[in-house]
Amino acid sequence: ARALLWYRRDLRANDHAALSQALRSAAAVHCAFVFDRAILDELPRQDRRLEFIRESAAALDADLRSLGGPGCGLITLHASAAEALPALARRLGVQAVFANHDDEPAALARDQLVRERLAADGIAFHTSKDTVVFERGEVLTQAGAPYSVFTPYSRAWLAKVDEADLRPHPVREFAARLAPRPEGFATDVPALAQLGFEPTNLRSLKLPTGSAGAAELLRSFAQRMDRYEELRDLPSVKGPSYLGVHLRFGRVSIRELVRAARAHDSPGAATWLKELVWREFYFQVLANFPQVGRGESFRPAYDRIAWEQGPQAQAHFAAWCEGRTGYPLVDAAMAQINQTGYMHNRLRMVTASFLCKDLGLDWRWGERYFAEKLNDYELASNNGGWQWASSSGCDAQPYFRIFHPVTQGERFDPDGKFVLRYLPQLAGLPEKVLHAPWKARPVDLAAAGITLGKDYPLPIVDHAQAREQTLRRYSVVKERD
Ligand code: FAD
Repeated sequence: ARALLWYRRDLRANDHAALSQALRSAAAVHCAFVFDRAILDELPRQDRRLEFIRESAAALDADLRSLGGPGCGLITLHASAAEALPALARRLGVQAVFANHDDEPAALARDQLVRERLAADGIAFHTSKDTVVFERGEVLTQAGAPYSVFTPYSRAWLAKVDEADLRPHPVREFAARLAPRPEGFATDVPALAQLGFEPTNLRSLKLPTGSAGAAELLRSFAQRMDRYEELRDLPSVKGPSYLGVHLRFGRVSIRELVRAARAHDSPGAATWLKELVWREFYFQVLANFPQVGRGESFRPAYDRIAWEQGPQAQAHFAAWCEGRTGYPLVDAAMAQINQTGYMHNRLRMVTASFLCKDLGLDWRWGERYFAEKLNDYELASNNGGWQWASSSGCDAQPYFRIFHPVTQGERFDPDGKFVLRYLPQLAGLPEKVLHAPWKARPVDLAAAGITLGKDYPLPIVDHAQAREQTLRRYSVVKERD
């Protein structure tokens, strides 16, 4: 039998559930990736993620050749996946297509179409769990319901996981079954320009890509994993793993990361493992409560909140996006996402809180902006993070817990090292007003050569007033239906 492995967001050739299953069940396995026009046509012509995906596909192509022989490799298409994939399966004469689960709404709809089209030709479509250790309904409460609170979920997850769940899905042993690429298909992954895109600054970022990128990050992180707890909240320090984008596109296996965390057996490693469990938590929230993927608040009462609208709201939103709020920690964080596609976790919480609770703007606006910008954008985690920040999500913080954008800076960037990396114009200010330049004495401003409103914005809102307004705005969630 012949089979086709359809790569999507799982661009690696080791420990791969669907590839392993295909190789074990068919004598010859072709591998394909579609640069999906349904997604690509909507993107700006410079997109770091598209560039990352292209580099990953090229690395995967090289890995498949070295596994299966020089005639092997990745078949790449640039077309609408829902149409091109079934057509490719027909052309190759395969009996089955294999792929890994993707529970995002658009992916589910696409896969349904593909399944129907394949079925019409008598071709089977087999999908596997690969992206997470436990998915969908695998971790449930004793009553058989999905969890909506993280702590008990993580307890159940940690109690359930064992070596068998983390065993790699073998590929190398069966690599002789990788089929040569048939005549008539390009032998190279298309260049960025052929896909209609221009290069971004991806290569100048300190983000290792390519074949060894994820391994390099993991090796470097392994040396500080035990200190994760103490370092992870400081945006100026190399604390976290920076593996998010590799996880998003499946350049690294989640099982490998969980095994690495368990092998370390330290409080730092345990905290990091919990972050990986947060990821699984939000994946299962999206699968079990699909309304969150359709823009609804997890807690329906929070959809009664009247967010700011109109020209001033638009102006505030633009200032937030462009890092012109007058709050240095927020502005430096927005510069970080705009310039690099990454934002430190602490700062995602601070900027998201600022959008909802200082500017009174709908969290969905911020969610959409992060979705456009983040290299590691993941619908489930991004939605989860935004609903957490707006208090509308599962495991909600009480809404009256509001981050103070100045105090957060003083606590987590005490010497201003992070802020100054992105806002060098503030360098001359005394440390104690770095996170609140409007409190600087005129003499200090003069000495630093800063005119507020010209060299750096005055705050666009007053935090204390905004806080009061937010408490009033949110009070509707207490009213009865
Ligand atoms: P590390 O600290 O090294 O953590 C390792 C991995 O664990 C991450 O790569 C990620 O896969 C997972 N993880 C860590 N924290 C969380 C979390 N709170 N929720 C879910 N998974 C987590 N994460 C995304 O992967 N994609 C997003 O689009 C995303 N949007 C967010 C939006 C907001 C408003 C907030 C508050 C958080 C968001 N996060 C998102 C979670 C978190 O900020 C990032 O996963 C993390 O900063 C990525 O950096 P890292 O890979 O160095 O993480």
